[in-house]
Amino acid sequence: MILIISDIQEGKLRSVNAEVYTAAVALGKETGQPVATVLLGASGLKELAATAGNYGVEKAIVVEDAGLAPFSPDAYAAAIAHVIRETGASVVLMGATFTGKDVMPRVAQHLDVALVQDVINVRDEGGLVFTRPMYAGKVHADVRVQTSPALATIRPKSYKPAEQAADVAVEPMSVSVPAAKVQVVAYEGSSNGKLDVTEADIIVSGGRGMQGADKWGMLEELADLLGAATGCSRPVSDDGWRPHEEHIGQTGKTVSPDLYIACGISGAIQHVAGVSSSKFIVAVNKDPEAPIFKVADYGIVGDVFDVVPVITEEIRKVKG
Ligand SMILES: Cc1cc2nc3c(=O)[nH]c(=O)nc-3n(C[C@H](O)[C@H](O)[C@H](O)COP(=O)(O)OP(=O)(O)OC[C@H]3O[C@@H](n4cnc5c(N)ncnc54)[C@H](O)[C@@H]3O)c2cc1C
Repeated sequence: MILIISDIQEGKLRSVNAEVYTAAVALGKETGQPVATVLLGASGLKELAATAGNYGVEKAIVVEDAGLAPFSPDAYAAAIAHVIRETGASVVLMGATFTGKDVMPRVAQHLDVALVQDVINVRDEGGLVFTRPMYAGKVHADVRVQTSPALATIRPKSYKPAEQAADVAVEPMSVSVPAAKVQVVAYEGSSNGKLDVTEADIIVSGGRGMQGADKWGMLEELADLLGAATGCSRPVSDDGWRPHEEHIGQTGKTVSPDLYIACGISGAIQHVAGVSSSKFIVAVNKDPEAPIFKVADYGIVGDVFDVVPVITEEIRKVKG
């Protein structure tokens, strides 16, 4: 069985789940294995199970226990390990969100098996092969796992969600949940209604070339027009120009949007590490030698304060 750990935050399924369901269902067809998901939490999970059915998942295991709220990575890991043992799953997938990256190594430790993090493709080549970027996205490694079950986290935006209706059978399971050692008591920044960079199809991002917090209106205007999220380089969030949740790169968030617009960002390797799996990168920089142009699909050499308003105006005209 291929088992997906559904990623639920504050009672809602994160958008990455649709992508992981899609990856799992495709793998299930390739390998002839059934696909199930497990939803964990204190209550109200049965209603969420239907979403898995929209992407072809045929079974939803629901583990409701008061000990699973608030979210605790160690309590969840113990509960997930229990479900994996009960179901005999051979492949276990979860989104490579902060939650997935927190929980899945603990699950691997419970089961004493290997985990492949941040996978962008999984397929059967006479055994499972997981592809993941390494060395700041400079190479893609094909990884085979020698232990069973095979555990992996899937990088958000690596798979396009493919809707395919299935009748999802909901199966409650009771698990003895250990007392939590760590609990998440609040999510700051997630409730302000803004699109998170890891879930956005388009990101308008700014670097130190933007010159200050008060200059961001221009990027926000462009982002609003495109239905995009706003992102930034690390010095920008370190200096408090933008919130840390927008920080992209090696020590920030990894993003894979369809379009990444980098404005006044030099393209240091630590930044590129977080954006290299974007489908298209457009860079605006006044320095023609800026390293960002080496990874950009389209580059505009110019001053952001001249170029961005022109892009915004042109898009406004196209949109009518
Ligand atoms: C261990 C470690 C981890 C790190 N992790 C991260 C990370 O996760 N994310 C990250 O981003 N960085 C990270 N960094 C920092 C990284 O090395 C760079 O210092 C940082 O990315 C540079 O940010 P920047 O491009 O915004 O600024 P700068 O390097 O100062 O570049 C500004 C750019 O703007 C251009 N510019 C200036 N004015 C204009 C204008 N008017 N119009 C157009 N272009 C203009 C300049 O030509 C320049 O290319 C890390 C560093 C270390 C050592």
